Amino acid sequence: MDNYQIADSFSLLAKLMDIHGENSFKSKSYASAAFAIEKLGVQLKDLEPEKIAGLKGIGASSAQKISELLQTGHLKTLEEIIFKTPPGIIEMLNIKGIGPKKINTIWKEMEIETVGELLYACKENRLKLFKGFGEKTQQNVIDTIDFYFKNKGSHLYAQVALIADQTESFLARLFPKKKIAVTGSFKQQSEIINELEFVIETTDTAIEEAMSAVEGFTLKEKNTDNIVYHSGVGISIKIFWTTAAGFIEKLVSTSSSQSFLDEFTKTYKNAFENAATEDALFEKAGIGFIPAFLREDPSLLSKAKNGGLPQVLQPGDIRGIIHSHSNWSDGSNTIEEMAMAAREKGLEYLVISDHSKSAFYANGLVEDRIKEQHIYIDELNKKLAPFKIFKSIESDILNDGGLDYSDPVLATFDLVIASVHSNLKMPEEKAMMRLLKAIENPYTTILGHMTGRLLLSRPGYPVDHKKIIDACAANQVVIELNAHPSRLDIDWRQINYALEKNVLISIDPDAHQIEGMDDTRYGVLVAQKALVTKENNLSSFNLKQFETYINNRKKLKKI
Ligand SMILES: [Zn+2]
Ligand SMILES: [Zn+2]
Repeated sequence: MDNYQIADSFSLLAKLMDIHGENSFKSKSYASAAFAIEKLGVQLKDLEPEKIAGLKGIGASSAQKISELLQTGHLKTLEEIIFKTPPGIIEMLNIKGIGPKKINTIWKEMEIETVGELLYACKENRLKLFKGFGEKTQQNVIDTIDFYFKNKGSHLYAQVALIADQTESFLARLFPKKKIAVTGSFKQQSEIINELEFVIETTDTAIEEAMSAVEGFTLKEKNTDNIVYHSGVGISIKIFWTTAAGFIEKLVSTSSSQSFLDEFTKTYKNAFENAATEDALFEKAGIGFIPAFLREDPSLLSKAKNGGLPQVLQPGDIRGIIHSHSNWSDGSNTIEEMAMAAREKGLEYLVISDHSKSAFYANGLVEDRIKEQHIYIDELNKKLAPFKIFKSIESDILNDGGLDYSDPVLATFDLVIASVHSNLKMPEEKAMMRLLKAIENPYTTILGHMTGRLLLSRPGYPVDHKKIIDACAANQVVIELNAHPSRLDIDWRQINYALEKNVLISIDPDAHQIEGMDDTRYGVLVAQKALVTKENNLSSFNLKQFETYINNRKKLKKI
């Protein structure tokens, strides 16, 4: 063990002690020992043990730990403190701009335990509400984390959408007059993308030759029908080669799940011959067109054969923004700015659902401010008609499953979105108790982000989604498909059961600023994978239908 390794151990120990808020005198002495060791002209392992304690900057306790490291290769104190620190907290030490003291606040006060959650909190403007975290720190943290994630392999669909487009046109320039198409999980509109895949009508040697001249791309691996490159933008690029005649077969087989492909080839293998387009392929097979985003479950094949698939929801079918925040809680824009922007996008209504009072970290609304906000919304509605702003709240589901206000206050909203934001670490039994109680509350119109998951950074709390859907069906509660690209919660794989039970889905952007409204698109893309139609989705109701829906529900619930 050399001095650098020893110094690193001391430095990590000091940082972790600070993160835990432990004795700062001790942590300082370990930090200075680390500094002293790095500067030392001689290797500690070559010194007599007695000599170490006398070195400048190294006290008795540090000297003892150095001996332990040299003799055993381990440091028990360090191992113990690592063991009681969540891995995500240790990972935060890689984020420049936030030292141990700030990480302590992030962990203990904000209750954030992973880098992904931290990024999400920054984007929700939540960091700057804490002492020592200004707007500038928040932006720095966002930039560093973005960079950090870029280098970590997996990406959210939204993070690579632009890169996919650019790479496709770049490849088109590199292989002029050849057929090129994006394929794989991106073509399938998956929520997480591990590599961007393309099919090109060319040969392996032509790819190798062309790519070797491109700066920023380095070879990762060569397989039987594809070559994978590291790209300069953090995501791997996989290129399949094929003949012109085999293009459609390669494209379809790389944009289908294995089980779907097996079932398709079993029956329709011959259809691949001479199929010039994907449409032509399915036409030759004699079944309705199945887009790549639906090539997952083989049972779709028989559906497509017997009468075809329903017309799935399109981004243009969205008529209003449900679930948005303004600067009354943790949003960046005023309600008026949000409304004007929604109107400019051609939408008919906006549901303002700021955080409720228990969400103190998000500047949640106490009762008096709700009253004020409602007066303000009434005024705006006069000004903006026929566009309409609906009065809502994203009510925290409290620890006992209750909503955040008394019934008379809840009655003043047009609709209520109920979501869990606190005590997310809970067993299924507890989660189910809270959610079911909230669903049974007559004031709950929509169940917000059902599991609280943040893709690539935080698994949701465990739930029995079928029981929740059953309860929503019984209580006329709509289930949100939170369209934020980090959430996409409810998972699209669970939506078919909701549709079976006639439960409405609501694709909601959870917008914290004007740009956030555009996230709706990501919700639509995954909803398409679940065969959601515009009739199944509350946010594609037009203003009149939406108003009728919430009024009828109030009558039904006698609220
Ligand atoms: Zn929320
Ligand atoms: Zn929200």
